[in-house]
Amino acid sequence: MSTVDRLRPLHDAMIEWRRDFHAHPETAYEEHRTSERIATLLAGWGIEVHRGLGGTGVIGSLCTGDGPSLGLRADMDALHIHEVAEVAHRSRTPGKMHACGHDGHCAMLLGAARHLAETRDFRGTVRFIFQPAEENEAGALRMIEDGLFDRFPVDSVYGLHNWPDAPEGVIGVRAGPVMASFDVFEAVVVGRGAHAAMPHLGIDPIHVAAQIVAAWQGVVARAVDPLESAVVSVTQFHAGDTWNVIPDRAMLRGTARAFRAEVRGDLEHRLRRLGEGICAAAGASLDWTYDRRYPATVNHARETEVARRVAADLLGAERVIAEMPPSMGSEDFAFMLQARPGCYLRLGTGNGGGNCLLHNAAYDFNDRVLPIGAAYWVALVESEMPA
Ligand SMILES: [Zn+2]
Ligand SMILES: [Zn+2]
Repeated sequence: MSTVDRLRPLHDAMIEWRRDFHAHPETAYEEHRTSERIATLLAGWGIEVHRGLGGTGVIGSLCTGDGPSLGLRADMDALHIHEVAEVAHRSRTPGKMHACGHDGHCAMLLGAARHLAETRDFRGTVRFIFQPAEENEAGALRMIEDGLFDRFPVDSVYGLHNWPDAPEGVIGVRAGPVMASFDVFEAVVVGRGAHAAMPHLGIDPIHVAAQIVAAWQGVVARAVDPLESAVVSVTQFHAGDTWNVIPDRAMLRGTARAFRAEVRGDLEHRLRRLGEGICAAAGASLDWTYDRRYPATVNHARETEVARRVAADLLGAERVIAEMPPSMGSEDFAFMLQARPGCYLRLGTGNGGGNCLLHNAAYDFNDRVLPIGAAYWVALVESEMPA
């Protein structure tokens, strides 16, 4: 019997868990109900449960004797989005919803945990890692800082994300960078206010800030190696209150992204230098804040090959995209891959296009792929930790 077929008897249970999480979404570090349900389920199957790392994090440890140890990670948090879908399991919490499919990630890892707890056809220790706050708030880093890998050692760690842009049931994998670093910046141009009819008496921060926005696009176009990847997006420009007054200041905010640490550092340096230089030339000054959020998510070569082979054995090589294109989105599993070797891959859910992309108010995880994701976890454990 194929591993996917072995997981099919748990399909209905996984759908029930997934829709329960979907109906009760919780955002960063507030995943109390979600983590309680996960901990109760794991303990009920005889899995040793530890709670409290990263606040609401849950770790299930399943040991069958001496052998390697493997970390499998799912994220639990939802987003601040008001759900518009009219499904029966729609969010009961106005303004919050599982628009990134983390409800499905939890259900698939629970399905794998239940199956492995029953069959125990492996030798070693599996750590089921349920982390809080993947979206923006670095729950993975907080778990690591709370001693995740010191108290619960693993030789390697694996993660997956549902991906509506890829066909249903297809796995995409790639060695090296798969998601970009994610930083945010704020630049306040401090000029001097004046009557709008007498601009020569002031220093117009809007004019200065507009030049900075334009100049920053030249960083990616002219200062980054064309063979590298980088994004600078200004996403907020706030200044002024009325028609006839030049304000004192203008504020710009945005995000910078890259795959390589050198490019990331270069972006930070050049954005600041351009901003300060343009301000100085105009007689204005710059209040500059640059906040490094997530590093790039970089897959390790050996573990990527392991994941690719396991996926190909599970689904057939024709259902594995071995050179999956990377994304300039970001992912805090990056912190786990800095701490331990591992691989992060994508599971196609095939419901992309139209209104059904990640972070869309109509998004709903495709329940048909639940047995495939759970089977990937089981196959990974049984392959890497033979009994
Ligand atoms: Zn997301
Ligand atoms: Zn996500």
